[in-house]
Amino acid sequence: MMDRRQFIRAGSAASAASVLGLTAGCASTGAGAGGKVVVVGGGYGGATAAKYIRMWSEGRVEVTLVEPEAAFVSCPISNLVLGGSKQIADITTSYDNLAKRHGVKIVRDRVSAIDADKRQVRLASGGTLAYDRLVVSPGVDFMWDQLPGMTRPGAQDQVLHAWKAGAQTVALRKQLEAMPDGGVYALAIPLAPYRCPPGPYERACQVASYFKKAKPKSKVLVLDANEDVTSKGPLFKKAWADRYKGIVEYRGGHKLVDVDVATKTLKFDFNDDIKAQVLNVVPPMRAGDVVHNAGLTTANKRWCEVDWLTMESIAAKNVHILGDSLQIAPGMPKSGHMANQHGKVAAAAIVALLSGRQPNPLPIYNNTCYSFVSDTDVVHVASVHRYDAEKKTIVPVPNSGGVSTAASELEGRYAMAWARNIWADALA
Ligand SMILES: Cc1cc2nc3c(=O)[nH]c(=O)nc-3n(C[C@H](O)[C@H](O)[C@H](O)COP(=O)(O)OP(=O)(O)OC[C@H]3O[C@@H](n4cnc5c(N)ncnc54)[C@H](O)[C@@H]3O)c2cc1C
Repeated sequence: MMDRRQFIRAGSAASAASVLGLTAGCASTGAGAGGKVVVVGGGYGGATAAKYIRMWSEGRVEVTLVEPEAAFVSCPISNLVLGGSKQIADITTSYDNLAKRHGVKIVRDRVSAIDADKRQVRLASGGTLAYDRLVVSPGVDFMWDQLPGMTRPGAQDQVLHAWKAGAQTVALRKQLEAMPDGGVYALAIPLAPYRCPPGPYERACQVASYFKKAKPKSKVLVLDANEDVTSKGPLFKKAWADRYKGIVEYRGGHKLVDVDVATKTLKFDFNDDIKAQVLNVVPPMRAGDVVHNAGLTTANKRWCEVDWLTMESIAAKNVHILGDSLQIAPGMPKSGHMANQHGKVAAAAIVALLSGRQPNPLPIYNNTCYSFVSDTDVVHVASVHRYDAEKKTIVPVPNSGGVSTAASELEGRYAMAWARNIWADALA
């Protein structure tokens, strides 16, 4: 008999297969599949691809995952660490099961260069790894040159982004704890596209929820480069008005152009300077350095374009790029859920290509993004996307998905179940 864990694992693999338009069993007919895959980055995209290539090739394809961090730390749910209802340990998962259960070789290192002609990557510690196919899911890196004050020595240790979960999440929570009651926390949001459209607004709710309980005279000032809230706008605005009246103030059209770290001042293109006790700057971002430096950011030197059937770069053969580094298709968010879907499409395509089969011609992707407006109540947005052979891109499926009508505790339970399931799907 299957235990609960096996059942969930079997269920998620089966649902992944159906998402990809594969009949059960078909995804794992890796007959003849063999070869070497190197995966760069063990986040939402890379960890999923590594595990599914091993599973769907029935262990025939050798997979090496290169990741500098000791464990996976999730950005989804990390805003709750700032709010105080979760700890960093709650959002951290070991890579051990990828190695022990799935035979992924884990190399704790950073890839410093990609040589697509020689089909090898260079490691920061020296040495190279050869591949037949390369998967790269490095997430985002920041365009600090757009905020000159942030390039000064020590600036980035004082003014935090906490837009990569981990040490900065813990450090920002400490800054919030140390702030006297009556202080102002100012959150600067860059122009879209950026990682996780609703993430900053969820963060405003989480910090406000902490202030409401612990320092009710304090304020959350949201300074958005976009004219208006970019995701779930009416739901976030309702939460600010109903739950955090007098605490959250939202100002659109505030494009940050510099930060004076010494005086804790934010400088904007048209608006007056703003000083606050805690500054939280989410900088403009682009694809991760490793793909940028390899010349794979073909869209505005910022994002990577791929063939959506295989996730293969349009600029480098045998190099598959996933996740936030991508130039998004219409209506596609930069989310962990979507990066997980990219990982499965790439895994299925790579196993097919290495076995001399055609990749699935009609991949279907879905996305659900939950946002906690308090420590228990949640709203969601969901969508389904599919390949359009004429346009050669992924398009939203009409009338699919939707948005919550109101925040609820029930959705809060769904949101935590989503998180546990996606962590298990990628890493268990
Ligand atoms: C506050 C916040 C809240 C969010 N909430 C949600 C949510 O509720 N739902 C949702 O779906 N998404 C959410 N997201 C978005 C989600 O975190 C990202 O979309 C997702 O992490 C993208 O996956 P990825 O694989 O592209 O990058 P990541 O998950 O960031 O993984 C990149 C990995 O690559 C590694 N790496 C980078 N460069 C190299 C290199 N040169 N060599 C080796 N390894 C390297 C990094 O160490 C990292 O582990 C949130 C994001 C934030 C910041």
